[in-house]
Amino acid sequence: MNVLFVASEVAPFAKTGGLGDVAAALPRALAAQKRGHDVRIVMPMYGRIKGADGAELVIREISLELGGNRVIVSVYAVELPGTEVPVYLVHCPGLYGRQGIYTQDHDEHLRFAVLSWAALHICQRLGFRPDIVHANDWQTALLPILLRTAFAWDRLFSQTRTVLTIHNIGHQGSFDAKVLSDIGLAASAQHFHQDQLREGRINFMLSGLLYANALTTVSPTYAREIQRPEHGVGLDAFLRERSSVLFGILNGIDEDEWNPQLDDKIPHRYSSDDLGGKELNKKALLASAGLPYVPEVPVIGIVSRLAWQKGFDLCFDVLPAMLRHRAVQLVVLGTGEPKYEQLFAALARRFPRQVAYISKFSEPVAHLIEAGSDMFLMPSRYEPCGLNQMYSLRYGTVPIVHRTGGLADTVWHFDRSTGRGNGFVFEHFDEGGLRFALGAALKVWGTGAGADRATWRKLQMNGMQSHFSWDERVAAYEMVYRMVAPGR
Ligand code: ADP
Repeated sequence: MNVLFVASEVAPFAKTGGLGDVAAALPRALAAQKRGHDVRIVMPMYGRIKGADGAELVIREISLELGGNRVIVSVYAVELPGTEVPVYLVHCPGLYGRQGIYTQDHDEHLRFAVLSWAALHICQRLGFRPDIVHANDWQTALLPILLRTAFAWDRLFSQTRTVLTIHNIGHQGSFDAKVLSDIGLAASAQHFHQDQLREGRINFMLSGLLYANALTTVSPTYAREIQRPEHGVGLDAFLRERSSVLFGILNGIDEDEWNPQLDDKIPHRYSSDDLGGKELNKKALLASAGLPYVPEVPVIGIVSRLAWQKGFDLCFDVLPAMLRHRAVQLVVLGTGEPKYEQLFAALARRFPRQVAYISKFSEPVAHLIEAGSDMFLMPSRYEPCGLNQMYSLRYGTVPIVHRTGGLADTVWHFDRSTGRGNGFVFEHFDEGGLRFALGAALKVWGTGAGADRATWRKLQMNGMQSHFSWDERVAAYEMVYRMVAPGR
């Protein structure tokens, strides 16, 4: 099949979270030779794009007439590392040459509407006839509507079907309806949800939910959750209506990039046969974080965007109490909302021998935390899939999680009597829940003479033997593609 994959971030070129990882890994797995698909990616050429130095100009100028706006873009191409998949970078410094990938600027709607328009113009210029246009999240959710309206005349797209993957329903791209003319869709107003239009709003994600031929999201549990009012963020009714074409497909992980046996970002490689290297990584992690190394004291790692979604509101009381009463250390990597940054900075000041807070985005530090921690904390309020718990499992780092979304699909509470389970899970999102899961983890870890290393090792092994490769997941996406584009 010919697949056009359009996303606002693709690792390693630009990444703020899981979408960036998935937008690289899924096309890479789809393009594997044995599958025989022609996969191409479109993303913005951000000012701070990484690893695109050798990009070649492939289309000099495309002039987009969007209502009153005339936007000129050029297109550069690079290969997705490790593949021959072309990544078309939409070059438009006026829109993409800013500090961040996402902004609060007044033209955020235009930045991503242009990405969708440009993606389809690229197909036209290159004569690429997609069987599937695969959109991701609100930023590219206008693609289905564009194909049904502004591009409907072009026979190039007569067989094209659309798939929209929801990576996070919490971000929907909701704007004042006035922007319809800015994004060149004033004439298509009747295709947007009429109740919302009357209220003076348009919602990019909703337009994708209504018009994509199939919808996917990134775990089976999240697919069920978003159809309920508690997690649907206002779109649950629309999702229920489309439930027959909504599929939850768990994300995979890049098993070469996140493999303790091959990882060149960590000082000591190790495997489930010999965890000696893991202990050395723990030493290295603590040294680099400026904390003392005490073998019997467990280290809990956190690598996260510090956002409301991630559930750190539960930590304000629970963590200080735990740190005061228990021999435990905490290494936190992440940036985000000031209140959470201040929480971890304050914990580091108050417990200088127990807590380190590293306030930045750093892949090498993320790898070292996965490799050097004993436990990994993800108390997310909601988590569409989550990648870090899967990385943790592979690194023998025992996850402690709230039972939601992809966390519920990958982590099972450990039962000492049966030896089954790979982590610690709390059911209810409240402080009691978090306290319970941390307590259960510290109990199995044990202290002094009570330390039961054999049980802990069993728990680690249960996780390290899990497989999360994309090779298995990609077949599920192919099934969805075939379902919507049966001609192929
Ligand atoms: P989300 O997409 O909601 O942020 P995921 O768990 O799906 O959550 O993906 C997060 C990804 O971003 C992981 O690959 C994680 O390692 C990475 N990440 C998050 N914060 C940082 C950070 N401060 N430094 C390095 N990597 C980070």
